[in-house]
Amino acid sequence: MAKYTPMMQQYLTIKDNYQDAFLFFRLGDFYELFFDDALKAAEELEITLTSRDGGNKRIPMCGVPYHSASTYIEKLIDRGYKVAICEQVENPSGKGVVKREVVRVITPGTIMEESMLNDQENNFLVLIAEDEASVGLIAVDLSTGECHITEQMGSLATIWDEVSTYQPKEVVLDHQLTTAEISMHQSYVFTPFSLSETKVDEELIRKQFLEYDEVCTSPSLKKVTKLLYAYLHETQKKSLGHLKRLHRYQTKQYMTLDDAARRNLELNRTLGEGKKKGSLLWLLDQTATAMGSRLLKKWLDKPLLQKEAILARQNTVAALLEDFILLDEVHDDLRRVYDLERLVARISYGSANARDLNAVKRSLGAIPVLKERLEGSSFAFLQEIGKNMDPCTDLFHFIEGAIVDDPPISIKEGNMICVGYDPQLDELRSIQTNGKSWLAELEQKEREATGIKSLKIGYNRVFGYYIEVTKSNLRLLPEGRYQRKQTLSNAERFITPELKEREQLILNAAEKSIELEHTLFVQVRDQIASEIRRLQELGEEVARLDVLHAFARVAKKFQYCRPQIHEQNELSIHAGRHPVVEAVSDIEAFVANDTELSNDQQQIYLITGPNMAGKSTYMRQVALITILAQVGSFVPATEAKISIVDRIFTRIGAADDLVGGRSTFMVEMAETCHALKAATSQSLILLDEVGRGTSTYDGMALAQAIVEFIHEEIGAKTLFSTHYHELTELECSLSRLVNVHAQCVEEDGKVVFLHRIVPGGADKSYGIHVAELAGLPVAVVERARKLLHDLEGRLSNGSNQHTGQTAQLSLFETPVEKGKNDGKQHKDLVKKVQKFDLMNQTPFEAMQF
Ligand code: ADP
Repeated sequence: MAKYTPMMQQYLTIKDNYQDAFLFFRLGDFYELFFDDALKAAEELEITLTSRDGGNKRIPMCGVPYHSASTYIEKLIDRGYKVAICEQVENPSGKGVVKREVVRVITPGTIMEESMLNDQENNFLVLIAEDEASVGLIAVDLSTGECHITEQMGSLATIWDEVSTYQPKEVVLDHQLTTAEISMHQSYVFTPFSLSETKVDEELIRKQFLEYDEVCTSPSLKKVTKLLYAYLHETQKKSLGHLKRLHRYQTKQYMTLDDAARRNLELNRTLGEGKKKGSLLWLLDQTATAMGSRLLKKWLDKPLLQKEAILARQNTVAALLEDFILLDEVHDDLRRVYDLERLVARISYGSANARDLNAVKRSLGAIPVLKERLEGSSFAFLQEIGKNMDPCTDLFHFIEGAIVDDPPISIKEGNMICVGYDPQLDELRSIQTNGKSWLAELEQKEREATGIKSLKIGYNRVFGYYIEVTKSNLRLLPEGRYQRKQTLSNAERFITPELKEREQLILNAAEKSIELEHTLFVQVRDQIASEIRRLQELGEEVARLDVLHAFARVAKKFQYCRPQIHEQNELSIHAGRHPVVEAVSDIEAFVANDTELSNDQQQIYLITGPNMAGKSTYMRQVALITILAQVGSFVPATEAKISIVDRIFTRIGAADDLVGGRSTFMVEMAETCHALKAATSQSLILLDEVGRGTSTYDGMALAQAIVEFIHEEIGAKTLFSTHYHELTELECSLSRLVNVHAQCVEEDGKVVFLHRIVPGGADKSYGIHVAELAGLPVAVVERARKLLHDLEGRLSNGSNQHTGQTAQLSLFETPVEKGKNDGKQHKDLVKKVQKFDLMNQTPFEAMQF
């Protein structure tokens, strides 16, 4: 240390506490970074690396201007880094090093800056703490103030599905993760944060969360709340009045949708490009406010399991649908409401400006009309929502009386507070305005006294107010009264004691009024912050109405029906459609299909049919209709009875997990395994072409074993598509399995996909037929037919193929030696196989081999 200058010593002492963050060290008008921080930041931010004298050695350094730091910070946060902001906390006295402190640590999960947030998405920070019996989890969004808390029995491994529902920007744990755990969840930014080194006073937690004792009833819940408090305290360094109540829930209140299901069903992103457009969320997002948009996403991530709760949502959608005019009017009213949640969060956090307060005012201005409209409706459900809305009229008038209509962005320039709000400010302002008329009068007086018509009074920043006289008129000035200040090429500038005295008054008043406006503004902001709960509740009410109104708009546009919800076994859909595929194609062109699944009769649909016939669209549509029904929306069908589903499992499409280093087949088996282990009889399983990733016999054997297991052991409703036609024979042995297929016909020499799902298995020679119609040379088609015929003949000869028992090729049977050469060839083969480095081949290469 001693080898460094005192300032660098100060830097190093502070940096020691923020090892995992870039330390932005304030030096005058710059934030500077030193040592490794500088090397890394110069690279990441593409800024020039310099160096500075630090004692006996030069130190790498780079810096960004204070006023444009946010863009750089944004870049670093976006890449998953953390930034500690270190400010000068006293005015430089000229003696010694000025005192500096870290005032805030910005991390991906604790962003408050509007420019860094997506207004249609939450920015969740998830915290996890483990105890012997259970794991506690909190998902907090600092930008909206919401805190969701839950507990799950078992170890850490059981919590990841729940973590993924929040798609967190950062995950904080009270211990280090193993490398294996990190690599399994590499999309997350992890922050280990040790509670053992931090003392947390429970009384302080009780002050922040009044409901702490009532909600945190177990050691892991207590621990995770402590972790939240300690981490936010450490990073934000200020009180967080805008955090809402701890909202406790149980994971079994909601349908579990793991990552694979959310991805495969394209709930909020498309599979291909990962865009919102084309997802279910995109289709449903007819919301009028950012709060509604975020809530919709949360609802989609957590479909309900309680019938009553689903019906409550449906009732409102149904009421809105009854009155189309009301539906449009509500939409217009909602559009006038800004992002109250984030606005009030910023107000309480102390980062809101005067324009933000006006946005609150305008939002509040829209409420009375909306409230009246709802209360005046003939539906009790809508009247109820209207009654629950607190229009916060007092706050509206308060802001209206305090903040001018068009204030500047900065809160340090004045021009924010209304005339009449504060007598002292009014007086300071009148000194300034009077000052101006006094100057005009003085100008007139001086002109008359000197007879110089062109004499004028002006102002500049260096000399203040002055009297300007052109050179040709100088001779008219009386001696002694004017003091020369500045000479220009064709004029001279003078001051008088009288002018200077007045100048002092005017300038003082201007400075004072800017200061006073700032103080008043902060008071106004604090006053609103003290009413934060009311505004937050109003925000929640608006968001809820917004989502339900969006459901109604979508239902109206695409003619959805209200599904019956029940807790029995039956899943019955008449003329169901895939909501997104129908929306992006011509509505008329989409072929509707029925579904009749039930646990005790038609539990498994075994779906066959050629590629492109519509199998996976059909499977997805059943899952999406179920999800829509359980979030309270209407569904794309003419009639639907939905039995509540506790989980949806999917294995659809071939997505290589290249990042995780797993082959297609491995991913396929991992997802299937997950389903087989965790599914209950109340789950819905979608398995699309399971077994495709391996050799035919392996694949078929696995597919059959999986179907049998679901039939015998799990009992879950299942849609199972396969290209192994042999499996259709399972209908004879498995009583609750039904064959259906995606129908195709030949028309004018072309294959036409009817996209109709009909009973029975598909014609198994369709592949060759399709190839023929696609124009493959006759010779190839003929040859393929013959090969197929031979293969079928061979398989049925003595092998009980369709049960798959002997279809598996065996590597280890002793060869039946016919001739000498056969034996040698066989040995060679065995050698070749033994040498083959199976572990370093892709499944495809192995298959080829
Ligand atoms: P498969 O899984 O059998 O290969 P897909 O479900 O992927 O077939 O469907 C192939 C294409 O057919 C889809 O991209 C979709 O555009 C269209 N399609 C599927 N089902 C329907 C339907 N019911 N009505 C109209 N078009 C459909």
